Amino acid sequence: MSQFNILVVYPHPADSATEASGTVALHAERGDKVTSVVVTHGERHHMQWLADQKALPEDKRDPNLKSLTLDGYKDFKAREAERIAEILGVHELILLGWTDHEIYFDLDKVHQLADIIRRVKPDIVITRFPSDTGSTTNDHPVTGRIVMKALEVVTNRVREFDGVDAYHGVKQVFFSFAGGEESNSNDVFVPGIVPDVWVDTTSVIDKKVQAMDQLVSQGYEGETARWIAEARDGRWGMIAGCAYAEPFLRPQAITYDSLPMPPRVVGKQYRATVLHTDRGTARNTPSATPPDAYRLKL
Ligand SMILES: [Zn+2]
Repeated sequence: MSQFNILVVYPHPADSATEASGTVALHAERGDKVTSVVVTHGERHHMQWLADQKALPEDKRDPNLKSLTLDGYKDFKAREAERIAEILGVHELILLGWTDHEIYFDLDKVHQLADIIRRVKPDIVITRFPSDTGSTTNDHPVTGRIVMKALEVVTNRVREFDGVDAYHGVKQVFFSFAGGEESNSNDVFVPGIVPDVWVDTTSVIDKKVQAMDQLVSQGYEGETARWIAEARDGRWGMIAGCAYAEPFLRPQAITYDSLPMPPRVVGKQYRATVLHTDRGTARNTPSATPPDAYRLKL
């Protein structure tokens, strides 16, 4: 297998821990280069730490809370994103500082990501499934759409007009899910959006849990991280026939030289019951939340 250069783009630091983070950890372990772009600091997302602080008597609160500013909170969030990237083995983390909850599809954002694609030169791009499935225009699918438009832009540059060459190196895009947009099945005849690629993340589920342990600002550490892994990644694993999994959807069907029969299909054995034994258990993962994670300033 050759080495891949993978670009992952998400709206918020939390997405970099909760979505395709197991897959990112797997590819980092096999020596692939991963660049993680997080377009906002998630500075208005699930303000659990702030709510917990405000619930404390004043003398028990973080002493820096009194002088809290947007920039100070963004630093706190940036540290979380950095710790997540380190646990997953990400080679480079890029925070773009767009405004949380205000990601709109615009030309500047498309060109900012196009510049990053030209610089990073990825073979693989992972981003959020770009279709709106809810009633609001949410940061997540908009980010996916900005990424797809940036890919269109980089492939259609003309040096004589634009001063840069076209970049055609992205071989494959994978859309990831947060859970809830996709059908609760891997049966392609079930109505709705059925993921077409499942990655077995069992061997790295501890890294995913420990990445989520960094999200103190959102209260994701501890029990919540283990609950997410067991309830959602475990459900995905149950659908995929392994302990824990992550689902993806590719934008286009794939052409092969002959019928695809990957090792997991060829090596398939009859199992009367798919038993969950010796596969690791996310809920027993030791905590990776450093004491400093609760402090607004270091
Ligand atoms: Zn998010």
